[in-house]
Amino acid sequence: MENNSAAMNGADALGNARAYLRRFFGYKEFRPAQAPVIKSLLDGRDTVAIMPTGAGKSVCFQIPALLSSGVAIVFSPLISLMKDQVDGLTGQGVPAAFINSSLSPQEVSHRLADAREGKIRLLYVAPERIDDPWFASAVAEMDVALVAVDEAHCLSQWGHDFRPSYRAIAPFISSLPRRPVVGAFTATATPEVRDDIIRLLGLRSPDVHVSGFDRPNLFFDVRRGEDKDKFLLRYVKAHPEESGIVYAATRKQTDAVYELLKKKGVPVGRYHAGLSDEERRTMQEDFLYDRLSVIVATNAFGMGIDKSNVRYVVHYNMPKNVEAYYQEAGRAGRDGEPGWCILLYSPADVQTQRFLIEHSVEDETRRSFENERLQRMIDYCHTPGCLRKFILGYFGEDAPDRCENCGSCAAEVEAVDLTVDAQKVFSCVYRMRQHFGMALVAQVLTGSENKRVKQFGFEKLSTFGLFKGRSQKTVNLLIQRLVATGYLEVESEHSTLRLLPPSYPVLKGQATVMLSLPKEPEERKPAEAADGLFDALRSVRRRLAEKENVPAFVVFSDATLRDMCRLTPRTLEEMAEVKGVGERKLRRYGEAFLAVIAENRK
Ligand code: ADP
Repeated sequence: MENNSAAMNGADALGNARAYLRRFFGYKEFRPAQAPVIKSLLDGRDTVAIMPTGAGKSVCFQIPALLSSGVAIVFSPLISLMKDQVDGLTGQGVPAAFINSSLSPQEVSHRLADAREGKIRLLYVAPERIDDPWFASAVAEMDVALVAVDEAHCLSQWGHDFRPSYRAIAPFISSLPRRPVVGAFTATATPEVRDDIIRLLGLRSPDVHVSGFDRPNLFFDVRRGEDKDKFLLRYVKAHPEESGIVYAATRKQTDAVYELLKKKGVPVGRYHAGLSDEERRTMQEDFLYDRLSVIVATNAFGMGIDKSNVRYVVHYNMPKNVEAYYQEAGRAGRDGEPGWCILLYSPADVQTQRFLIEHSVEDETRRSFENERLQRMIDYCHTPGCLRKFILGYFGEDAPDRCENCGSCAAEVEAVDLTVDAQKVFSCVYRMRQHFGMALVAQVLTGSENKRVKQFGFEKLSTFGLFKGRSQKTVNLLIQRLVATGYLEVESEHSTLRLLPPSYPVLKGQATVMLSLPKEPEERKPAEAADGLFDALRSVRRRLAEKENVPAFVVFSDATLRDMCRLTPRTLEEMAEVKGVGERKLRRYGEAFLAVIAENRK
């Protein structure tokens, strides 16, 4: 491999990078977000890359690592996942290794020696390793050209996965004899997190690249008022050949959903912080290797998870904020093939999340920040508009009003005039002095004569019982829609309902409230009657993966198999054109897959 990073200028460097992309990874072109990140690292500039999950961050530091003169150290948060990343790389012919506590001291020192001698170009470690004196002395003798910090939001307390050990990275970098180029990678886009990354890593005038957050291959959907268990069972059974993740809010809930699926004969695993390390490791591995098709988990599962063929992510409960949701849901479809992200909403989820915030966040400012973010998540669950537009808007990006690939856009919509109902709600909120929460407003409107209503004398209000005959649930939904569409707000500290400026003209009869409400969307049809060639390719892949003891997607991703189905290559040369077939994999697997394609052609 060339030793020429310093000498390269922009265009040549990218040309070389492209040649490496093709040779090792089997892709012809960089994705639009990747090229500028790679270029700035090759130019020797510290770089922050904020890209959504699945956008292809890894290549952005792996290729500069291969093109640089020394070793690249990659900090990655979970030791259990390093193995898969490194298996993937070595499968592509990239000299990479990890060191973690699963290795014997001899193995560790062997790998460190290989890195020192340049036989290993990418060394994956967890930041905890920095404290290990062996590691420190070995690194002192290495030529470290690049430090890549994966999941860099772990540095920040504002992020959702704060890891104190990440704070040791900056002093580590300063201790190196030659200051390497530093790249930080994350999918978390908030300005607080970005500023923390820059400051806490001690980056020097970094280039910051924020790429578009859209994941066009993902279909977003929110289901309200479903029987969650029934929905989930139906869904999982309808897609037996697919890998899926089901996220639940608590350990208890995770166990319950796991038991439910298991009882019905689904090959399912579970993952949460209450299980033994051993059980977690096995479950994760079985899922990765496609021995389990579904995993039910808390948010402890999946940071940095690299399984590219997850086809659906179902949230059994609403998560705590949109960042967390997008990151978790984004684990579907990393290979670029369609992915489904379904959130099963129920009002009880809001209580769970409020409770978790109350009991886990001590600082008051921080608590109100978390409550505001929670409210935006609740709004997502109630928006009648395009779900993709909502998410992108949350991250500060513009998007068309309709994406045509989410539950709201796909459902038949009907324009509903809600002016009179909205007036009743606004008037009631006003008469209750904008001092009470949604539940009590709904009780007053439905004419409930309970203790609290009477305690405040609300049964005497002119708005009392205006919705007599309607259920609390329907009235709650109506109020939530008015919050989600910006007529009302839920004040974060005490969850009281307040009027926002757009509600005033409605109250005065000067404006109407028209909402396009989706009729209940249809369910995704079960997978098309299996495609013969795709299935045949999948079974060779499984056979080869088992033989080599690696997860199936390390052999080839679903996207690569799909591309093979499209191109149906006849020769090795044609096979090299398939997306994801690099030189080494062509040599290693090309013939086996060509044989199956030829067989299916007959
Ligand atoms: P991230 O870490 O950003 O979530 P990954 O690095 O795991 O994403 O990449 C996601 C998928 O995209 C992987 O299957 C990877 O091989 C694929 N990929 C990366 N770069 C390209 C490219 N230029 N063209 C096609 N596929 C790519």
